[in-house]
Amino acid sequence: MALEAEAKRMVAEFEYTAEDVNKGVKEFIREMEEGLEKQGTMMSQIPTYVTSVPNGTEKGVYLAVDLGGTNFRVCSITLHGNQSFSLQQSKVPVPRTLMEAKTSHELFHFLAKQIEAFLKTHHKDHFEKHRKGSVEEGEFFDLGFTFSFPVNQVGINKGHLMRWTKGFDIQEAIGQDVCGLLQKEIDVLGLPVRVAALVNDTVGTLMARSYTSPGKHKTLIGAIFGTGTNGAYVEKLEKVKKMKAIEEAEGGKANYDSSTGLMVINSEWGSFDNALKVLPNTPYDIDLDRESVNPGIQMFEKRVSGMFLGEILRRALLSLHQHPDEGIALFKDASSHDNDIRSTTTVAEDSALFKQWGIDTSFLSIVEEDQSDHLRITKQTLEKELKIEAASTEDCVAVKMLVHAIGKRAARLSAVALGGVVLSTNKLQEEEMVDIGVDGSLVEYYPGFEEYIREAFREIEGIGEEEKRIRIGLAKDGSGLGAALIALVAHNSD
Ligand code: ADP
Repeated sequence: MALEAEAKRMVAEFEYTAEDVNKGVKEFIREMEEGLEKQGTMMSQIPTYVTSVPNGTEKGVYLAVDLGGTNFRVCSITLHGNQSFSLQQSKVPVPRTLMEAKTSHELFHFLAKQIEAFLKTHHKDHFEKHRKGSVEEGEFFDLGFTFSFPVNQVGINKGHLMRWTKGFDIQEAIGQDVCGLLQKEIDVLGLPVRVAALVNDTVGTLMARSYTSPGKHKTLIGAIFGTGTNGAYVEKLEKVKKMKAIEEAEGGKANYDSSTGLMVINSEWGSFDNALKVLPNTPYDIDLDRESVNPGIQMFEKRVSGMFLGEILRRALLSLHQHPDEGIALFKDASSHDNDIRSTTTVAEDSALFKQWGIDTSFLSIVEEDQSDHLRITKQTLEKELKIEAASTEDCVAVKMLVHAIGKRAARLSAVALGGVVLSTNKLQEEEMVDIGVDGSLVEYYPGFEEYIREAFREIEGIGEEEKRIRIGLAKDGSGLGAALIALVAHNSD
């Protein structure tokens, strides 16, 4: 019982009340607006130069490529115009030597070669026709380029690489326009392809959902709850006050279609409230941040996304395991009994409980889901993943309580971001229904994640019962379908 009482006290530390949610939403809207007005703010609110979203009637064949880390993916997407599409794709690992090549030419030549091979296999006719010189430039494939590294985007198909991450290191590429680099190598090979758009994965999610969402309804937000968290949404162009200053810095009017009066904004909400004015901050959050590679940065993401929830849990469990009072401590049961077999709980010295990042967020999903007798599944998972043998049922109950508290807090924080965008755009007033597309393992697999978001929506002043008019749907394949759709709108706005 003592353990349960202590676990309850810790659970209370993760409580994120209705009042907290409302405070969070207010601050979120304030930071959104600040980010639209000037540059260098906490939430970057980056204009993407995408100025319309699809409604599912679009047609055509488009190419999409995705360079995000280990693999390079090439695909072609055929939009059937009835919210459906078909997709062909190839995927190759990027050779390590190219990740650290001397010149960008070596890497981008490799990428262009993959596109050539893909066209030869999947679009032979078009490829051959082009070889014979009978493909007009207007018939070139438009390509959407998902490039998941920090870029300073200055046009729909123009963006300068700020720095490499994820093991890439080609100094010479820094500062260069990555679309230009790819186009150059495509042209050297003489392929009938135009790099039409530089794609951010959240914008891809927004576009993919908007094309596939039921009832030809256009989507307001594309949000990712995976390794990290971020969202893109449709803003009124007139509210993007900093647009002029951005264009002036680039030496004149950027090339985009302003006639729609809209601009898709990549919010970069992972860094919402880095100043910690409203975000919850338990001892476990504080320690996680202090020992992370980027203390003080991405504070919202560190409480919400898949990369971090496992680590928050690990720190909470470890603190309970190391509780000074042995009668309270977790995993220290000297005589736990399960089916009449008496055994002692043991935690292996090399248990992942003692290693930073030792617990994956999928562990939380398993425990949250567990309805088995005496939490048998949790017990087995503790054994398998953390080398904790014969945990008592009381231990497992405490673990489950903490898992639930951390997962639910993450979902309620997610509602702050989504609710903030819904309210600030005034969409509940303007539309019968507000559509949100989501992607990422956390929202896809964590049991009840959407329901906890909805529960929090109902507590937000200005949403309340209107929560029923917010539709949330899974939007897969932002870097394939989504990128193709961005290439399409880029072409149409030329
Ligand atoms: P990415 O965001 O990198 O494109 P994912 O959407 O698959 O990829 O997210 C990966 C993250 O999701 C990892 O941090 C992982 O810990 C977490 N994750 C993987 N499986 C699950 C699961 N079943 N439940 C909750 N989180 C998960």
